[in-house]
Amino acid sequence: MDDNIIKALKGIAGADNVSTDDASRAAYAYDATRLKALPDVVVRPGSEAEVAAVLRLASARRLPVVPRGAGSGLSGGSVPTRGGITLSFERMADIINIDTANRIVVVQPGVVTGVLQKAVEDKGLFYPPDPGSLAFCTIGGNVAENAGGMRALKYGVTRDYVIGLRAVLPSGEVIKTGVRTAKGVVGYDLTRLIVGSEGTLAVVTEITLRLVPKPLSVVTMTAYFADQEGAGRAVASIMASPVTPRCLEFLDTEALKAGAAHSGMTLPGDAGGFLLIETDGSPEEARRQADVIRGIIEPDAIEVRVAADAPEAAALWKLRRSTSQALFSIAPDKINEDTVVPVSRVHEALSGFAEIGRRHGLKVVCFGHAGDGNIHVNVMTDRKDNVRFSEAEKAVEEVFQLVLGLGGTISGEHGIGLTKAPYLRMELSDVEVDLLKRVKHAFDPDGILNPGKIF
Ligand SMILES: Cc1cc2nc3c(=O)[nH]c(=O)nc-3n(C[C@H](O)[C@H](O)[C@H](O)COP(=O)(O)OP(=O)(O)OC[C@H]3O[C@@H](n4cnc5c(N)ncnc54)[C@H](O)[C@@H]3O)c2cc1C
Repeated sequence: MDDNIIKALKGIAGADNVSTDDASRAAYAYDATRLKALPDVVVRPGSEAEVAAVLRLASARRLPVVPRGAGSGLSGGSVPTRGGITLSFERMADIINIDTANRIVVVQPGVVTGVLQKAVEDKGLFYPPDPGSLAFCTIGGNVAENAGGMRALKYGVTRDYVIGLRAVLPSGEVIKTGVRTAKGVVGYDLTRLIVGSEGTLAVVTEITLRLVPKPLSVVTMTAYFADQEGAGRAVASIMASPVTPRCLEFLDTEALKAGAAHSGMTLPGDAGGFLLIETDGSPEEARRQADVIRGIIEPDAIEVRVAADAPEAAALWKLRRSTSQALFSIAPDKINEDTVVPVSRVHEALSGFAEIGRRHGLKVVCFGHAGDGNIHVNVMTDRKDNVRFSEAEKAVEEVFQLVLGLGGTISGEHGIGLTKAPYLRMELSDVEVDLLKRVKHAFDPDGILNPGKIF
């Protein structure tokens, strides 16, 4: 990238906030997929005006711009495969206003999700979306991926809480979408279009989120099953009852063992399938719902147990949240897909994934948000072993065929990005892909914003 551009970027964001050295470029080269590509320059803007100025310059010079949150994405969204400018939001990390009267919060994109949750909970309010990565991912990344997580089952995903945005178009023009009120239907819903657009339509600079009252009480329970299909059937039975738990997480035996070892927890015994369940509401209501669930699943479970206290519940969540990373103890690499099937078919999907693994001689480890049918399928592999990696790629394609055949979708929350782009047409028709491309073109006619992603 020529010196004049670097000079101009330093003029916009300040010399300290523009990095071209190898170490900085390497630090912003990857995401949690472990895919890597170096940006030419990293810019850390401090304001919306700076973001707009960077985009005006990039647009004039036709430079790729890749927005970046914490780089915890699982589809390669913030990996700058075409180089150019990585726009990173660590300096735009303010909680601008928690408005308790109107139950909204206005934030900058670089706020870490867990920090936001804690801040609103201190005021008796609740921001429910709860990705496993909440300790480090940013709300800007959550908006771009329409992140889900543990509590999506009862409360919905990021999209259900974003009521308005400020964003900068690739041209550098600033837009305000949505409303700051409980209702609003003026024009097409640009907010919903930008949420989940994976940083390809606009750069989000401010987010207004709706909040709900913080539940008074939570009951956490676990259930161990002899096999994963039994756990899958229990999920369907719970969801067919009148109770909606706020979390209904599944781990197969490999995921459970790896997560327990990683988080230093001792398991009571062997289990083929494990559920981590939470109910919430008033103390009486949370307990009543937990009792209903226990009654449904106890006859088929090896053990059902209610966590005795908050530290026991916290240890269980530590295990669950560490599962994704813990799987690297099984194999050096994994292809992690976040498939979704109708909840009544979770047990069929689990059997099918295991069968695909057996056919290809690979371990397929499953865990995830089973209550909404969102199973993370991890095909364990080794990128350095060409044969094993090519088998893993074939297995992934079969996993997608299976979920689509069961009436599901190839991505519930991680997005298409780089890793799922080759499979987009397995789910969408040519007409639908063409329409998406025309939307992209309307926002970004020169194709400078996060190029190479989705399509
Ligand atoms: C251990 C672990 C557990 C996880 N658990 C979950 C889970 O339960 N649920 C879930 O949904 N995901 C989960 N994820 C995936 C990941 O954390 C989410 O996709 C998250 O939303 C990414 O946020 P980020 O800040 O890291 O964004 P990044 O990875 O940096 O970026 C993600 C995308 O957002 C775009 N982007 C970032 N900021 C902006 C902005 N300001 N404007 C426009 N585009 C922007 C980027 O260009 C990129 O396309 C998990 C990941 C890990 C590693």
